[in-house]
Amino acid sequence: MTSISANLQAVRTRIAKAARAAGRAPEEVRLLAVSKSWPSSCVREAAACGQRAFGENYLQEGMEKIEELSDLDLEWHFIGPLQSNKTLDVAMNFAWAHGIDREKIATRLSNQRPAALPPLQVCIQVNVGGEESKSGVAPGEAQALARIVASLPRLKLRGLMTIPAQTENDSLAHRQFGELRELLLRLNQDGMELDTLSMGMSDDLEVAIAEGATLVRVGTAIFGERVKLKGAL
Ligand SMILES: *Cc1c(COP(=O)(O)O)cnc(C)c1O
Repeated sequence: MTSISANLQAVRTRIAKAARAAGRAPEEVRLLAVSKSWPSSCVREAAACGQRAFGENYLQEGMEKIEELSDLDLEWHFIGPLQSNKTLDVAMNFAWAHGIDREKIATRLSNQRPAALPPLQVCIQVNVGGEESKSGVAPGEAQALARIVASLPRLKLRGLMTIPAQTENDSLAHRQFGELRELLLRLNQDGMELDTLSMGMSDDLEVAIAEGATLVRVGTAIFGERVKLKGAL
């Protein structure tokens, strides 16, 4: 067994255990394999183990992999920050975008989504930690943005995404993920039918699943530690 296949198996086991511990069915939690910084060969290896959904942060890198792996039936998620100069490529190449945090970006994505493709599946990114440096709307602004996004013809609003403030404090982590769950609940009480809570990564997926995550974004625990040096891969 290669390390990617062993790691994938271990992550699936962690997800199933966390789901059962929370009284949930393991199938309620999807695994998004975050392949940023890893070459196409690693994605191919994970795909051979049955992994279908992959997440990329960097547009150029992601598009190269999509091209190189076009023989496989994969589902590509853009999980990086979205600026105006990226929307066309995201609209043309990806199935999902998780980082919607303003109307202008959402409108551009909807206008640029090719008619031949299904609507772009999107999540609104919410800054639950309230950190200055993080992108995402403030929790109090999520509902207004959700109404706008839900009305755009070529987008399908699926739910909410967050990258909470990193913390060793377990109860704070629970509170941050719980805040996103409650926000989603309120939007659904308001008449929306959102099914996705995109939260939890390699280090905190158990807490996120306990708080209702339906999609966890996992990189390091599957592919290994990313090398930060530019050009090192
Ligand atoms: C890199 C990244 C992940 C994966 O993080 P790991 O700690 O490697 O699992 C998840 N979500 C986003 C938005 C990321 O940028």
